[in-house]
Amino acid sequence: MSSENETTTPDPHCLFCRIVSGEIPAEVVATNDHAIAFRDLNPQAPVHVLVIPRRHAANAAETAAQGGTDALITLADKVAQQEGLDQGYRLVFNTGRDGGQVVFHTHLHLLGGRNMGWPPG
Ligand code: AMP
Ligand code: ZN
Repeated sequence: MSSENETTTPDPHCLFCRIVSGEIPAEVVATNDHAIAFRDLNPQAPVHVLVIPRRHAANAAETAAQGGTDALITLADKVAQQEGLDQGYRLVFNTGRDGGQVVFHTHLHLLGGRNMGWPPG
């Protein structure tokens, strides 16, 4: 996975590709070579950050096939430390309609700052 490919093949119709390119603003809290973390517009917990690959893919399985999921998890943990989530946090990949996915650019939800219920809704 070359960084050139990651930055030169955005989908112009994809909301999160447009955040990666900077065309749409976001409150970015951390980045690495392969991923960007920014605050969710509609937070479901005191800390709710989305961690996305720079390279477009529709869901976590596609990103995994590209070897890109480790960078997401590593960056999510860095954000959790930055945000002081020393009591833990939850990571979620909503996938497909029944999974509640509405944006079809892979995104890892990082949720923390409160006790998470189980089972989830
Ligand atoms: P999902 O339902 O897993 O596809 O989650 C999509 C998430 O993207 C939701 O939690 C939305 O609140 C969030 N979202 C949508 N547009 C934006 C945006 N422009 N900036 C930040 N978060 C967004
Ligand atoms: Zn995209």
